[in-house]
Order: sequence, then structure tokens, then C-alpha cells
Amino acid sequence: MLTAVLDLVLPAACVGCGVKGASCCAGCHASLTAAPARRMPVPVPPGLPDCWSAAPYTGSVRRLILAYKERGAVAVAGALAEALTLAALTAFAWRPPLERFAVVPVPSSRRVRRGRGHDPVGRLAALVAERLRGFGLGAELWHGLEQAREVTDQAGLSGAERAENLAGSLQVPQAVKTPPGPCALLVDDVVTTGATLAEAARALRAAGVSAPLAVTVAATRLAYRRS
Ligand SMILES: [Zn+2]
Repeated sequence: MLTAVLDLVLPAACVGCGVKGASCCAGCHASLTAAPARRMPVPVPPGLPDCWSAAPYTGSVRRLILAYKERGAVAVAGALAEALTLAALTAFAWRPPLERFAVVPVPSSRRVRRGRGHDPVGRLAALVAERLRGFGLGAELWHGLEQAREVTDQAGLSGAERAENLAGSLQVPQAVKTPPGPCALLVDDVVTTGATLAEAARALRAAGVSAPLAVTVAATRLAYRRS
């Protein structure tokens, strides 16, 4: 609502670079979609799915993700979902998906959801599932993960510390509907050490759902420095 009002008052500008016009300009859109690739964290945490991302987490890509996640710039959700879809399609060329599979967002903590007032990754996962279906794939959004407990802020923690902080922090909700298939595609915004995605895959495996593949909009340099 506030965004709609501000759009009437202020000229719209790209949230990635500030140029006047669309919320994600052509140049920033190109940065988001130019380099889909497999970018694995180093070291690879045990049980980590294959991690594919649309772009490195730098410059306008980083600014777009932060504006979306931290400041509720939902106007760029479509562009971010397009980048995720491209990363998924690139990954599927190497590892074709099953006929039907679950698209599972990595959940934000309740504290983060309350503070931000929206579920940024959940919204992206819904758009990704829709877009993949548009390509004729049997993708179905499945909210198969929830926080089992609150975790401390990950910022500034090493990979080992993150893994310890996150161990057992996610679970499949007891009341969740049956997954659409035995296999899941994990979706998150950024991969850094891979600790969150490894924990997500562990929680799904514990409930009998495999998660061989994860897609993120971006990967930090830490995520692929030496790969
Ligand atoms: Zn831009």
C-alpha cells in the first residue's frame, strides 16, 4: 500500500542502481540472469544439495536482494523469481527433475517474518513453481519446512559455527499436507556457507523427502571462492 502511494508521489527508480524507470532496470535484470551456474560453498557441508545460483552476490544483484528482503521491495520479486527459474532450468539440464517434485522455500525465522512483515523466500518459491509449470514441469509449491526453534543471527559466524547454530533448527511441520513427490527443489535467496541449505536437506530427508538440488538467486564469494 505504502509502495503504491509512494509510486504516485515519487518517480519510480531501479532498486538495484537508482536509474529512473522500472523497479529493476534492463541492466540490473541482465546482471541477475547473465551467469546461472553451479556455485558450491567451500568447504562443502555434509549433506549439502547441489547448489545452483543465478549470479554472484555483488553490486546491483546484492542491492536488489537486500531491498527485496530487508525493505519489502516486492516489485522486484518477479525479476528475482525469473533469475531463480533460470538457475533451476540450467541445473535441470545436468540433473533432470522427476515428473512431479516439490518446490520448498527455506523458511525465515518467525522473528524475521514479524519484523519484515512478509515472507520473502516463500513468495519467490511460489513464483518459481508457477514459472517452472509454465515450462511444462511438474513443480508444486510445498511449505514442507518450518523453524523448529529460533536461531541466533548467522552474521559473522564461521561455517562450522553456523552448522552448530543451525543443527536441528528446521523440521517438516506435523500438519503439513503430503509432499507432491519424493523429491524437493530447495529455494533460498543467497548461499554463503551452505549451512542453512544442508540443514534444510537434512530435515527433509528425515521426513523421507530427498533434496538433491538447491537454487538461490545469488552466491557469495565465500560460496565458490576456490571451486
Ligand atoms: Zn538498475
